[in-house]
Amino acid sequence: HHHRKIQLQLISFDNRRQIIVTHDLTQAEKNDTLRRDFIANASHELRTPLTVINGFLEHALSTEMDHKTRQRQLNLMAEQGQRMQRLVADMLALTRLESLVQQPSAETVRILPMLHRIVDQARALSEGRHLITLDAQAIDLKGNHDELESAFTNLLTNAVRYTPDGGSIQISWKMVGEGAALGVCDDGIGIAAEHLSRLTERFYRVDKTRSRITQGTGLGLAIVKHVLLRHRGHLLIESAPGKGSCFSAVFDRPQLILSDVKM
Ligand code: ADP
Repeated sequence: HHHRKIQLQLISFDNRRQIIVTHDLTQAEKNDTLRRDFIANASHELRTPLTVINGFLEHALSTEMDHKTRQRQLNLMAEQGQRMQRLVADMLALTRLESLVQQPSAETVRILPMLHRIVDQARALSEGRHLITLDAQAIDLKGNHDELESAFTNLLTNAVRYTPDGGSIQISWKMVGEGAALGVCDDGIGIAAEHLSRLTERFYRVDKTRSRITQGTGLGLAIVKHVLLRHRGHLLIESAPGKGSCFSAVFDRPQLILSDVKM
């Protein structure tokens, strides 16, 4: 279901001979729209916290206030400042990923210790509100350590953020066929089918308010997608509203896997 938009240009030299010039605008136009949307969305995302900060600043500059009120307002400003910082960091990370043409350097990345670290962070974020389990084999990947870590972290952070208290999150890292896959499954809020294909778009969110409360930048899954692409992997999403979601990072090129797996 691709729409091809062809520009027809009628050039008439005289009354008898006409030449029709066609330009396929599809790809160029798409890129342009994407770029415009990204800038528009990013500006909007940055404007909201900036408005809050400026509002408090103007108020503070024009009014006397007691110590407690001042402290409370400073905290709110700090929160918005951090939000802007997360946003800019994610935007830079994404832009960098997109501009890299070559494959990531083929360092050997030890996934198991990485997962232990990420799971510890997820438990800290959850503060005991979820049961988080890890079932992982000693499989290594060739690729870029930091990119993989940021992708895996995003998947786990989302599972914590979109799963109500008392829920459980299961992480697995194992061989699948000749490849390997990281599975992050939660029994959280889930996602309706019509959203699934759009989740990795920049700033696409199912529920804007929820994403804001949970401190999401809206760029997490876009980053995941790009990292996986660069590692010749892909993202698989299965979800049912009210039941939960499974996000799988699948690496299906066996040459990327080094290891020492004991099955
Ligand atoms: P955000 O920063 O908003 O979380 P992401 O790109 O990481 O942005 O995710 C995009 C959207 O996908 C989220 O806003 C949320 O609606 C949905 N989503 C991601 N992970 C999950 C999950 N584990 N369960 C339910 N919804 C999810």
